[in-house]
Amino acid sequence: MANPKDMTTERGTPDMFGPQWEEWAREQLSATGYDPDMGVEVARDALCLVGGQLSETEFLAKYHKGYRREFGLDGRPGNPARAEEATRAFVGGRISRRTLLKLAGTVVAGLTLGPVLQRGLPVVGAAAPAKEPAESSFSLFQYGLVIDLERCDGCLDCAVACGAHNALMPWQHWIYILSYVDENQHGTNLLPILCQHCSNPPCVKVCPVEARFKRQEDGLVLIDFDTCIGCKYCQIACPYGINYFQWGEPGPEPPYGVRWGNRKVSGLPPGNEREVHVTGRPPRSVMGKCMWCPERQGTADQRGSITCELVCRPRVLHFGNLNDPESKPNRYLREKQRAKGYISTFRLLEELGTRPNVIYIGHRPSAKAKQVAGPVAYEDVGLADKQQPAMKRPEPWFMNLLRGA
Ligand code: SF4
Repeated sequence: MANPKDMTTERGTPDMFGPQWEEWAREQLSATGYDPDMGVEVARDALCLVGGQLSETEFLAKYHKGYRREFGLDGRPGNPARAEEATRAFVGGRISRRTLLKLAGTVVAGLTLGPVLQRGLPVVGAAAPAKEPAESSFSLFQYGLVIDLERCDGCLDCAVACGAHNALMPWQHWIYILSYVDENQHGTNLLPILCQHCSNPPCVKVCPVEARFKRQEDGLVLIDFDTCIGCKYCQIACPYGINYFQWGEPGPEPPYGVRWGNRKVSGLPPGNEREVHVTGRPPRSVMGKCMWCPERQGTADQRGSITCELVCRPRVLHFGNLNDPESKPNRYLREKQRAKGYISTFRLLEELGTRPNVIYIGHRPSAKAKQVAGPVAYEDVGLADKQQPAMKRPEPWFMNLLRGA
């Protein structure tokens, strides 16, 4: 495992957010019309925040005025001033229902923030105790994914199925299969990369309108497409490079209902809960990423499975509640351990403090790994691979490769 100290500069900023990252980030942000200087700085600080080098209080205070100036509001979770403003506006009937709904999550945080401020702000977006699932005796629920790299054959069925299921463009890979050779591993290795649904997600911490949020009941990190303003701050704050911005007109909506789930707004009058748009492809100028099929998690018969997992013939992917020892991923880990006697597992960039919820069985790629052509070309299955040119970027290699597009 990399030593976190080796990954930081003198100011405590991870190397991956160095000058060349900044060049890339500015390029991304300049297309949005939102302040690139603040976007770059807040992304760096969000990573310091999740790494414990910056407190929540400092993080909120440092950018509060800037957010108000740039976005007209500071909807970051935990911001008390924003919550008070939203509450006042709602009570006075001066804001629209849509605006209220945009701010609703912040209101909740703010209404309960007084006592918390005395002892420091909470970890924003961390999974709170959820309703106990019927089949489990555990009160904390966090969906996660075990990926057995020893079984992956690079067929790309998962990427094709994900694209079809969510009506994505051919170059939008909410699951990307990276093929590489490495000095400490034999042959061609494969690494499926997707949103890690972090328990301490920097993307959630920078979102000005709380469109990016971590759902309390199951720990999914979701994007409310109706609320996202397309600032791209989440994309550059995420160290995994798995966000895809919807630049053009999206394709047709997927056949299933795109609205699912309820964002509950405790502390507000009944009727201010709403269904949210978090599934399928995003509308134009909105960020998208893997959501772990929330529309499936809302149904009794499909709950606890995701599309890519279902189509995977070699049984590489195992999805379920990581906090339940009897869930699919935990049973798989146990059975594999029993069969082999020993298994090596790792989580990507866990040393940053993001607390990713994807567990890989296999060996962590080294910084000397090099991308190679996979056994199946993206073009051969009707997809396009725009990631290759990014290999020209400096180390650490796979973050530079996978910044999304
Ligand atoms: Fe957010 Fe990136 Fe973590 Fe997904 S992988 S939860 S987008 S920080």
